Amino acid sequence: MSWRLIEKYRDILKQERGAICKEHTGKIRVAIIYPNTYYVGMSNLGFQAIYYHLNQRDDVVCERGFLPDEGDIEEFKRTNTSLFSLESQKRLKDFDIVAFSVSFENDYINILKILDLAGIRYKKEERGKNEPLIIMGGVCAFFNPEPLTSFIDLIVVGEGEDVINEIIDRFKDERSEGAGKKEILEKIARIEGCYIPELYDVEYNDDRTFKRIIPKGEASPIIKKRWVKDVDKYIPCTRIFTKNTEFADMLLIEVSRGCGRACRFCLEGYAYRPLRYRKAEGILKLVRGEKGVKERIGLVGAAVSDYPYIDDVCLNIAGNISVSSLRADSVSETLIKKLLESGHKTIALAPEAGSERLRRVIKKDITEGDILNAAGLILSSGIPNLKLYFMIGLPTEADEDVAAIIDLAKKVREILLETGRKRGRLGRLTLSISSFVPKPHTPFQWCRMEDAASLSRKLRFLKKSIAKTDNVFLTTDLPKWAYIQGILSRGDRRVGDIIEWAYKMDGNWMRAIREAGVDADFYALRERPLDESLPWDHIDVGVKRGLLIKEYKEAIANS
Ligand code: SF4
Repeated sequence: MSWRLIEKYRDILKQERGAICKEHTGKIRVAIIYPNTYYVGMSNLGFQAIYYHLNQRDDVVCERGFLPDEGDIEEFKRTNTSLFSLESQKRLKDFDIVAFSVSFENDYINILKILDLAGIRYKKEERGKNEPLIIMGGVCAFFNPEPLTSFIDLIVVGEGEDVINEIIDRFKDERSEGAGKKEILEKIARIEGCYIPELYDVEYNDDRTFKRIIPKGEASPIIKKRWVKDVDKYIPCTRIFTKNTEFADMLLIEVSRGCGRACRFCLEGYAYRPLRYRKAEGILKLVRGEKGVKERIGLVGAAVSDYPYIDDVCLNIAGNISVSSLRADSVSETLIKKLLESGHKTIALAPEAGSERLRRVIKKDITEGDILNAAGLILSSGIPNLKLYFMIGLPTEADEDVAAIIDLAKKVREILLETGRKRGRLGRLTLSISSFVPKPHTPFQWCRMEDAASLSRKLRFLKKSIAKTDNVFLTTDLPKWAYIQGILSRGDRRVGDIIEWAYKMDGNWMRAIREAGVDADFYALRERPLDESLPWDHIDVGVKRGLLIKEYKEAIANS
């Protein structure tokens, strides 16, 4: 046992406000885990919401766990210290339930790392009956959890607020009757939204494509996503404040779920359906009730500028507000003014594609006029800098579309220079470029990803094109990480072998792919026929396949 690590965790806890520490005796012990570091996890609202929600029950104690910081992992191993929770520094393996909240595919490997550090066997079939029940929730659980099915006992498909209580109730009842893990899982399987991978077999075709999933016994052939009908009943917001996270000491509040725009590449517009907005009164009541943090409020939602009560909220919040990015066609002057008063120096817009044609293909229904108008409104308000988000590798993209990013950037730059000269100080324009990764349950779920070499070529072109342009800067992701994400995002159960090897190979994914003997291009780079069965077909997020096909065909017809 390492005292240095225990002291470190206690110190982190001392710097927080809002942590809940409870007695363990007689309660169901749940460790909720964010599969990344404390710094990353503590800005995740879903993670904080379930922690708070579970701790509202008298019969549950819920504590947090994280991936240790890089330097601490060695210390855990060297001192043979089993990974422990933050609140009580109790070993994760002594909890009844270890629940992962997973938002990003690139964190999958960390699930194995955390289980191993905790002394819990990461392969589901090797785990003993006395080891904790391993649960997974979060957005990755409801778009395609298949690559993780070798490691997880129970996958919660959808929004967790209602279903987590049903799971705990069932767990408690069954355990008090003396049921073992297997029996408990069989009972939990009857709750809508609960997917027990063990209760399903999978078949593949001779050409390696996925054939079908076969439920065993009474398991439901379709897992329906759970979603919260009354979003005003639960308003996810920061419950624990700390300086040691990205959105430090900021009150984050979720104002909406889903997005009504349905851009064809985006999970928000499909997997999170239906679109739900929270009433302004609830948001304002929460802000007013939070003592001492009113100064910084982060409004969270898929397209915050679409939130119908945004002006109302802006006009009635005394403190500063923040938002992630704005839709170019729904930028209100009230919102801009509030962001300016809040001290923002940069506002982000997301055109996603440079050309009008490609924006039509992806259904990002904003025109060049909308973008230039929004840029003018923002920059002439006094906010000096602008950030524009783009993707490359989108379906049907040609070199002209990539060149159009530069053309558009130059037009925006003109506005930036003009407004800057009037102000007497020039701002900066940042182009943030990421690579398109097709996502399940969207109309682009059948599309191929562009390979890393081609994406890198496009990035080089963009870099070269703006290299000598003053006041314009470029940030890019690494196509190799987008490729890994592409494999994990649309993988089936066989991709679990790549994740396991990646863990064993210390994050060397390319070597892991070779060792696993799995053809990774088959998952990421292959266009899938519309009649091919997909590994996530048994997950019903509430969007009909027919609608996705119609949208896909319309996209191609637009090209
Ligand atoms: S890209 Fe933005 S506007 Fe489009 S569906 Fe997603 S969240 Fe909504």
